[in-house]
Amino acid sequence: MIDLRSDTVTKPTPEMLKHMFAARVGDDVFNEDPTVFKLQDYAASLFNVEASLFCPSGTMTNQIALFLLSGPLTEVLLHPDSHVYQYEGGGLSFNARTSVKFIAGERGKILASDIKSAINPQDVHRPRSSVVSIENTTNRGGGACYSLQEMKEISQEARRLNLNVHMDGARLMNALIAQNIQPEKVGPLFDTISLCLSKGLGAPVGSLILGSKELIQEARRVRKVMGGGMRQVGYLAAAGLFALENNVQRLATDHQHAKMISQQLEQCSWVERIFPVETNIVIFQLQQDRTTDSFIEFLKQKKIQVLAFGPQLIRMVLHLDISSSDVQKILSAISEY
Ligand SMILES: *Cc1c(COP(=O)(O)O)cnc(C)c1O
Repeated sequence: MIDLRSDTVTKPTPEMLKHMFAARVGDDVFNEDPTVFKLQDYAASLFNVEASLFCPSGTMTNQIALFLLSGPLTEVLLHPDSHVYQYEGGGLSFNARTSVKFIAGERGKILASDIKSAINPQDVHRPRSSVVSIENTTNRGGGACYSLQEMKEISQEARRLNLNVHMDGARLMNALIAQNIQPEKVGPLFDTISLCLSKGLGAPVGSLILGSKELIQEARRVRKVMGGGMRQVGYLAAAGLFALENNVQRLATDHQHAKMISQQLEQCSWVERIFPVETNIVIFQLQQDRTTDSFIEFLKQKKIQVLAFGPQLIRMVLHLDISSSDVQKILSAISEY
């Protein structure tokens, strides 16, 4: 099966497995796992921040970060399509006991100039505005990404208005490769960044929170309470480290593959609209006379799996288990539909 449902489906390569087997480990809850330290130090220095923390999932890193940056009687300012709002089970109200304020914007992105008017006045009727949370790349926005200038403006505006600023960078490396941005320019712009190792980077498990020493120390405490303290987890950290050291530059290949697929889709009369492709996600809308079920079933016959992503919407995500010859098979299957 050629699996385009998500970039989370990748399996460790033999080389990654070799690094995992060879990892030196210790009890990470006792702060004694040398491979976890190595990963956390590598990521922190890559992003030019003081510290980072390895966690089981991107949901946990987002939830911990926003727990630390918001709190009861406040609200988190975010785009309504955000993963944090859409796909984390209402965790913001459960974990941080906070509420949300929407900032609208094209393809999952917000503008710095829209932050000020979203802030509440000092008034006991209104929740306090605590943190701006952006997503990069945007999942429901079809993999759109922020330019460095846009990130700077959001960071400066949030800080000018005394708000914290978090970035859900589940696919941040895709964004930085697509925009040709150095990670060390991005880290200092945010109080916290969540970075997934288990998506296009190809690790089987794991995400990192990046931030100041002080925040990461607190994050460790919250991770423990959420049940995210893991013992000899260096075996997984080794996969994450391998992914960060080896699988970042190759994301450009996934982006090329995504472009090739979208160009093929442009030729198809049964496609109503395609989201502009910037990274590794292709989202498109079928015309009204087609159903997502029949399209998915057709591709399944060709041993290709894709995801229904809303009414008439299909999502395909490219990743390191999709080779160029797989892409050729996808293109010819599309042309036969
Ligand atoms: C995948 C994803 C996450 C985290 O998901 P987990 O499955 O919990 O690791 C967070 N934000 C975005 C935008 C994502 O795509």
